Amino acid sequence: MRWEGNDQSDNVEDRRSSGGGGGFPIGGRGIGLGTVAIAVVAGLIFGVNPLTILGLLSGGAPTEVVQQQGPAQAPPADDREAAFVSTVLRNTEEVWGKVFQANRATYQQPRLVLYRGVTPTACGTGQSAMGPFYCPGDKKIYIDLGFFDTLKQQLGAPGEFARAYVIAHEVAHHVQDQLGVTGRVDAMRGRISQSQQNELSVRVELQADCFSGVWAHHSQQSKQWLEPGDIESAMNAAAKIGDDALQRSAGRAVVPDSFTHGSSAQRQRWFATGYKTGSVQACDTFSADRL
Ligand SMILES: [Zn+2]
Repeated sequence: MRWEGNDQSDNVEDRRSSGGGGGFPIGGRGIGLGTVAIAVVAGLIFGVNPLTILGLLSGGAPTEVVQQQGPAQAPPADDREAAFVSTVLRNTEEVWGKVFQANRATYQQPRLVLYRGVTPTACGTGQSAMGPFYCPGDKKIYIDLGFFDTLKQQLGAPGEFARAYVIAHEVAHHVQDQLGVTGRVDAMRGRISQSQQNELSVRVELQADCFSGVWAHHSQQSKQWLEPGDIESAMNAAAKIGDDALQRSAGRAVVPDSFTHGSSAQRQRWFATGYKTGSVQACDTFSADRL
């Protein structure tokens, strides 16, 4: 991906030098290591809201939000990894801004927080073990850049465009929030069984994968910055973080009822659908008969 030299977003907040680093949540109720281990399995897959998972597992209210000290900081200009994230984020702002405009709506840009270890969020304490996530409560995406090493080394998904897909997937959860999908889904959660909740979660996640593909489509149309192998590296990442692949690699039995993000094949299919069509309407995973 030829991303150098393109515009960067002003919405990146760098918390990497403030606190964090340790393995323990700041403030609020502590979350035990056992819980974290379970949450890793459930949330490493860019959960729709892994904090919800943690909230459920620790049996109650999310941990209290600790206010940041001082103003938000932008990442240093010579930080290449941060520059990459910032460039991709900027492009998602351009693409979604236009898509919303074409539908006579206004896209509110999310902020993206770079952190290390743990960080306070409006959804409770964010932890890098959960993987990147989006918090609808503060409209922020949280990423510990260490996840990109995990993606490459442990999950077997190298490549810059695999990283771009991860960022685009979290941005897609923000788009879902803006479209009212998140609110409607949350309203249903209390009234349905666990397996129905899982199925709903899969549809939310596959739609986010499809939206990532929609972004990739428009991004490439305007920038022509993809190189041979880029789409393949995103498709490979989609496969490596499928629920079946993760369960298999954790040495567990594959249990489709427990899926929350979709199988490898489904994640690939929906990303590809978004990429081929560039259409938000093509991403209606909620009324699709076959996922
Ligand atoms: Zn997700």
